[in-house]
Amino acid sequence: MKVGCEDQKTKKKRSIELPVLPNSPAKKGKVRESRTSRWRAAALIVLTLLMAAHVIQWLYSGVTVSPIEPSESMFTLQSGAVNAGFIFFSLAILTTLIFGRFVCGWGCHIVALQDLCAWLLKKMGLTPRPFRSRLLVFVPLVVALYMFVWPTVLRVFAAAKTDPIIPQFTNHLITTEFWATFPPIWVAIPFLFICGFMTVYFLGQKGFCTYACPYGGFFAVADKFAPGKIRVTDACNECGHCTAVCTSNVLVHAEVKQYGMVVDQGCMKCMDCVSVCPNDALYFGFGKPAVGVPKTIEKNYSLTWPQEIAAAVIFFVSYMAAWDVYQLVPMLMALGVACVTTFVAMRSWKLLNQGDLTFYRYSLKVAGKMRNAGWIFLLFSAAWIGLNIHSGWVRYHERAGAIAFANLQIPDELALARPKPDQWLTPADRNNVAEGERHFRLASTAALFTNREAISKLAWLEYLAGNTDDAVQLLGKAADKQEGQTRAMSLYYRGAILNRLGRNEEAITSLDQAMAERPDLIITLEEKGEALWQLGRRDEAITTWGQAIERNPGLPITLSMLSGAATSMGKIETAASLESEAADYTPPDARFNWMLGLRLKNIGMNELAEKQFATARKIDPKLELRLDWNSREKR
Ligand code: SF4
Ligand code: SF4
Ligand code: SF4
Repeated sequence: MKVGCEDQKTKKKRSIELPVLPNSPAKKGKVRESRTSRWRAAALIVLTLLMAAHVIQWLYSGVTVSPIEPSESMFTLQSGAVNAGFIFFSLAILTTLIFGRFVCGWGCHIVALQDLCAWLLKKMGLTPRPFRSRLLVFVPLVVALYMFVWPTVLRVFAAAKTDPIIPQFTNHLITTEFWATFPPIWVAIPFLFICGFMTVYFLGQKGFCTYACPYGGFFAVADKFAPGKIRVTDACNECGHCTAVCTSNVLVHAEVKQYGMVVDQGCMKCMDCVSVCPNDALYFGFGKPAVGVPKTIEKNYSLTWPQEIAAAVIFFVSYMAAWDVYQLVPMLMALGVACVTTFVAMRSWKLLNQGDLTFYRYSLKVAGKMRNAGWIFLLFSAAWIGLNIHSGWVRYHERAGAIAFANLQIPDELALARPKPDQWLTPADRNNVAEGERHFRLASTAALFTNREAISKLAWLEYLAGNTDDAVQLLGKAADKQEGQTRAMSLYYRGAILNRLGRNEEAITSLDQAMAERPDLIITLEEKGEALWQLGRRDEAITTWGQAIERNPGLPITLSMLSGAATSMGKIETAASLESEAADYTPPDARFNWMLGLRLKNIGMNELAEKQFATARKIDPKLELRLDWNSREKR
């Protein structure tokens, strides 16, 4: 096999023998084992053990250094929260700018997984072959820009109006919520299997790095500017041993001959090529960077140009179908899925259209006849692509439902003021409710997993549509599957709806559970006080409202209820003082007064309620008519 290249002086295209292939000189001389590969394996094992120790330390003590994970940098760029991930990623890019991609080769757990997978495959006699695409190599950089630059650009433009352009930096180096930004463990395992193993099996030993990793997108650019490079002396005799051992699929012997150094940005400085060179012709050294060096070595690509375009489209569609489906699949996992889908789709297409095709040592098709291995490959391909299409269908409906939900205009407080708020829904909101319900229901009927966030949203849409029992049941189901903040909110809304339905005992249980999950959710105390008041447990209600005011003195609803309670006990002066305090904190919004009036009326504080209705009418004389869309439509 030959690869075309251009002599820098003569500018003529010529070919360089790739001697690692059959009948090459390298076949005659055995490639020696890399001494550095053991050191690298040791470094990656130590890294993995340190990561495990980090998690164990957090589980044991409950507090630790924030995750040393590049993706955490997004929070620093967006909100100024400086964490360990940001510091690590910044230092990693800086060192790459000087020394090249050592961090990739020697300090990444995903590369450790990829190496482990390749090692296991080789033990089984299977050597992963690289999938070479001209277009898909840009995916890591595009994703890196989307992850790290695009939010920053948005922030800069949004900041012009409200916030300072440079965010105020805050210290987030220590955390108790170590796992908050990571997927649950039962998602992390398939994540690592797809990104660390399947991508290697199908796309080669650095499949994930080459076509998916956004951090690699930045490291590759930084590597181009780095003066630290694998360089060559005159001792090279073009034996090709270096190329034979390179797991980053760099044409080492050709590059060092052509440029005097390795310029391929995929080089992760594993040093295997240096170690195996029989003439000690390679070394790591400083000098001219690769930027500006015209690339003249032509590689053999796996796809023609039309196939490249088809592959890019398949990749994009597959990625969009998988990303965030069921609110479970993280971005990097979706990129791994898209890599596999693209490979199996393109290979299946070839299998159906070509007379002969092999995969590893298996003949899939020979002289136009499909072999068993070919059928198995097609079967796997159909199952994988089918699953991806199914995910896309679910994702589409989840997304459409979420958009309808996000477009709702009715404020939650107003909707929660009475059991059936449908009368207050504008035609646009009614449409949003109907559309949201339809899409979420369609997504859930075909779903393979439960989307916990979608259930909460569907519950709210059911409540707005007047299906309160369904709403209560769905919120309970959502809370059972959620944790932390989202679970607390589901339980709070469930408690509030139960209160409006007069199921006060059940409401108290739900609100207590919300409080246990998030003790700082003070509105829960407000609702609990209402439930206790309606049950006639008035002293407890007053104590509960008092606890809320102790923690946040500016709660107009709680202050008004305390005022109503004081009135009912004949404490007129206290009532007047609380009423005036409540007025100080009440926003000048007719709808708020109206909502507050309804809440007070619900618990029998009619006198105060009427005052709120009167204030609302004063601010907006046509409010009732404006709110009541049923009567407006009848007119
Ligand atoms: S490209 Fe990404 S996955 Fe690959 S070694 Fe570098 S950081 Fe790790
Ligand atoms: S650099 Fe060393 S291993 Fe590579 S082709 Fe030259 S002599 Fe062979
Ligand atoms: S070119 Fe050499 S140092 Fe770079 S990845 Fe390949 S074998 Fe490792």
